[in-house]
Amino acid sequence: ELFGEERHNSFSPNIEIDSQWTPFKQAVDGFMQQQWTGGPIIGGKLRQTDQVHPVLAPHNHAIRTGEMHWARQDDVSEALDLLSDGFVRWNATAVDARAACLERLADLLEDNLAELVAICHLEAGKTIQDSIDEVREAVDFCRYYAVQARRGLGQTVLGTAFNGKERQYRLDGRGVFVCISPWNFPLAIFLGQVSAALVAGNSVIAKPAEQTSLIACRTIELALQAGIPADVIALLPGDGASVGAPLTRDPRIAGVAFTGSTETAQLINRSLAQRDAEIVPLIAETGGQNAMIIDSTSLPEQVVRDVVHSAFASAGQRCSALRVLYVQEDVADRIIDMLRGAMAQQVVGDPSLHSTDVGPVIDLKAQQGLLAHIENLKASAQLIGQTPLPANADQGTFVAPTAFVISGIDVLGREQFGPILHVVRYKASELDQVIDAINATGYGLTLGVHSRNDETTRHIARRTRVGNIYINRDQIGAVVGVQPFGGQGLSGTGPKAGGPRYLPRFTREVAL
Ligand code: NAP
Repeated sequence: ELFGEERHNSFSPNIEIDSQWTPFKQAVDGFMQQQWTGGPIIGGKLRQTDQVHPVLAPHNHAIRTGEMHWARQDDVSEALDLLSDGFVRWNATAVDARAACLERLADLLEDNLAELVAICHLEAGKTIQDSIDEVREAVDFCRYYAVQARRGLGQTVLGTAFNGKERQYRLDGRGVFVCISPWNFPLAIFLGQVSAALVAGNSVIAKPAEQTSLIACRTIELALQAGIPADVIALLPGDGASVGAPLTRDPRIAGVAFTGSTETAQLINRSLAQRDAEIVPLIAETGGQNAMIIDSTSLPEQVVRDVVHSAFASAGQRCSALRVLYVQEDVADRIIDMLRGAMAQQVVGDPSLHSTDVGPVIDLKAQQGLLAHIENLKASAQLIGQTPLPANADQGTFVAPTAFVISGIDVLGREQFGPILHVVRYKASELDQVIDAINATGYGLTLGVHSRNDETTRHIARRTRVGNIYINRDQIGAVVGVQPFGGQGLSGTGPKAGGPRYLPRFTREVAL
């Protein structure tokens, strides 16, 4: 009942569901018939290689979207040489001109919305609405970083020295920046990193996730069209071991922006430390073990709505997604009952349908890991409920949204990146132990709090060590410039993406 009218995850400001949806969906459907070919882009040219991988839709492996050519070792070295040269001229280009390229790119993303939505949906298995939101966020990153660059980079006069000379200060690009991104926001995070590094004056080698390189390739084509010079941007698709790792070992790079798992960030950190070369920055945004604490003063209907959205939207494949729900004992039975009912109302299935709440997970490896976790918990924890899968679920990689009662966050190991929710009951007197247990995981990405007691929310917000805290709302969907996003501890180094201090980390300070 609760979710009867909530059939879509509507956060997009752009597409009005009633009046604009049908023509827009027809345009997207038109693109769905297309086959795309992607590959390395070096010197502005798309390359074909002998390492060709088919791109299959996660919700239905019979749908082939195109093929991706992966970069070879030679491509890595050639791109590094070319971009080391290209950096010099780009760094000397006026900040205003660099920012204008980002704004043209934002316009091009909007002009190509239907095509980008089609690729994102087919390659990453995202619902159409999630795919629209993805493009919107990428547009927001470009426009926001353009504004931030004009405001904060470039030359500043600090004052006049005693000898009458002006003292000046500026932020320069660092050199060749490597941007390594995950598949779960294949456009927004991919372009968020790339646009920030570029506008700060760096040349950029982008290494997208192997699962979602087609959308990355199309985006770099648009970036070139927007005026980013061919010797300033390169795309090197391929897997982490054969493309990402050699890049992070190379002495020619000047920094790494990485978003992905904590384990990969630690590998990259070690790789950078072992180089006999300049010590360069690593900006890492990583995983989480995100909790929500709800007390007996919270509003149950709102809680359950926000829990279901935070845990299961995008099939739980958001770094911010809710994994562990702490419910105060006094209201636990009621909340758990309502949660079971709400989960039964969710629709899992074809992400192209407006009626679908939860689409597939990204691939077989992810599916198998999540199913193994569910099987383990079935043996040791109490199952609350599981949303039914569609009859044709075996056409793709689906995992049913599932919730368990467990004893505490400490029994969970690493992050489970999918639609699995763990519920823990706690007594009011145990609130500080709950906070300590959340802090003890070492992660610190997002935290949700539902309470109408201001003292409780203030207390929790003061004591927990997390990057983003959401009070009396869902805990996903940070908006660029409004909720700068990023974690601490095992969840990331900062600075926050979409925040005012992000760009300076991509620069060197020069005083003259
Ligand atoms: P991942 O497995 O760590 O991969 C991330 C990227 O690193 C991919 O492009 C991957 O390439 C590459 N890579 C793998 N091994 C590498 C190596 N040795 N050297 C250099 N690069 C390497 O993460 P994922 O599965 O794509 O993404 C999900 C994770 O990202 C989750 O943990 C999620 O919480 C996190 N995430 C965090 C945020 C945030 O803002 N904090 C946002 C989104 C996602 P291949 O995959 O192609 O091998």
